[in-house]
Amino acid sequence: MALILFAGLCAADSAKAASYVNPNQVYSYERMTYDMKVLARKYPSIVQYRSLGKTPYGREIWAIKLGKGDATVFYNSSHHAREWLTTNLVMEMIDQYSEAYMAKRTFEGYNVQSVLNNTSIWFVPMVNPDGVTLQQKGLNAFPKSIHSKLIKMNNGSRNFKRWKANAQGIDLNRQYPANWDSLSRNSSVKSPSFKNFSGYRPLQAVEAQKIAQFTAFVDPEITISYHTSGRILYWHFKNKPQFIDRDRRIAEAYGRMSRYTLVKPSSNPSGGGYKDWFIQTYNRPGLTPELSYGVYETNPPISVFNEEWKRNRKAALYVAAEGDKLWEAKVSDANYNITTFEKVPLYDRPNTSHKTKLTLNPAYVKVTGTYKDYLRIGTTYGPKWIKKGYYINGTYKKISMPILLTEKTQLHSMPFTAKAGTYINPQTVKAVKSYNGWYAIQTVNGEKWIKPVNAVLNFNPVEANEQAVITTAVDWYDYPHTTKKRAVQLQPQTVTVKQVWGTWRYVTAAEGEGWIK
Ligand SMILES: [Zn+2]
Repeated sequence: MALILFAGLCAADSAKAASYVNPNQVYSYERMTYDMKVLARKYPSIVQYRSLGKTPYGREIWAIKLGKGDATVFYNSSHHAREWLTTNLVMEMIDQYSEAYMAKRTFEGYNVQSVLNNTSIWFVPMVNPDGVTLQQKGLNAFPKSIHSKLIKMNNGSRNFKRWKANAQGIDLNRQYPANWDSLSRNSSVKSPSFKNFSGYRPLQAVEAQKIAQFTAFVDPEITISYHTSGRILYWHFKNKPQFIDRDRRIAEAYGRMSRYTLVKPSSNPSGGGYKDWFIQTYNRPGLTPELSYGVYETNPPISVFNEEWKRNRKAALYVAAEGDKLWEAKVSDANYNITTFEKVPLYDRPNTSHKTKLTLNPAYVKVTGTYKDYLRIGTTYGPKWIKKGYYINGTYKKISMPILLTEKTQLHSMPFTAKAGTYINPQTVKAVKSYNGWYAIQTVNGEKWIKPVNAVLNFNPVEANEQAVITTAVDWYDYPHTTKKRAVQLQPQTVTVKQVWGTWRYVTAAEGEGWIK
């Protein structure tokens, strides 16, 4: 029996050769940090990370972005120290989803590539790394000087398996400003403790503060806060009537896939939780799944991981796909092409705080959506946004046309009057592009656009050298254009025709040279 099991494990291992996370272990802050960096190195196009700041004991609060989409959802884990199995869960998601993305595989019926090209899933896999470390490693992971303080907050015990708070003894999921005052007033825990102390004020703990700020930055359509235990799903906190059907529908779908039982909405919820705050602040769906069968005052065992993974792996992709639908409902559809003329910055989302280091060179690009002052375009990096500005609908025509400029003409860097520069004197130029009365010409300073006035298009005179007799005084012109008539007529005489342009003749006369009709 043992041998068969071993063979089975081998097959599974080789089938997912590109798996980098082993979730079947006590998953520490150090392990998570290491795995995160490996994943970002292996899948740089879809996995990126950043630190949201440091905890009081110097650990980074890591955020990981998975996907290329402009729609966003936000999944966070381990608000509570003893609930670190939720970190295993989301790290396994990043590992498995990115592998499926790269292999262009479907995952639980979802086309992972299409989901992650439309939606970026932001993860904070360990909101509370100090607390998790204390719960997993005990006092030894902390400076001696604070041991007595930690023991006191732990009601005198040196066993930290029940620890839920951060290392300051603040319960991070009682820190959010949603009904916080009454939560705090009604709490029996009035000072730092291994659990249930809501702090002296909301967002007092740097961890909760950073998560709230990060939420504003990500602006997610849906959030999931993973907790343990009990296999139930919280989804409600004073949801406004106009959103309740949407929120219930999403919660019920998650409940069906995870087989977690939806918690009945309470008319008097306690509040203070991340989900509560998110629902109340953003009027968007926020879910709190409680992983694992019920365990009392400790972490769920590793042995329950595979079951919880099976229950959540599809549901989390479902939420990402739903996030895209909610986002797309806010974006105005578009399907046309534009031409840009200058380098412009690209944005991940239509918002200045989502400016990337990427720029778009002058290009003919397809617009797939608009939102406020931004246009969405498709790029190899996924959908990106540019600010509305100097571009033309459609594109210019490529031409090769001589134009006789009869007046001093202003040069423009692109076909917009606002983009004016220096002037050029009357002369014949060669236009290489045309757009709506504008022409691009080559100059010593590169390509410039002109909108010529009184110019002669397609000016292509034929050389000549013949005599002509003028019998009566005629008008003559500086250029073969009726607006360029000279004050004094050309007197009767014999002239030499040097050039012919349609009905126009360029002549040499006693008075000088000029154009006659
Ligand atoms: Zn919890």
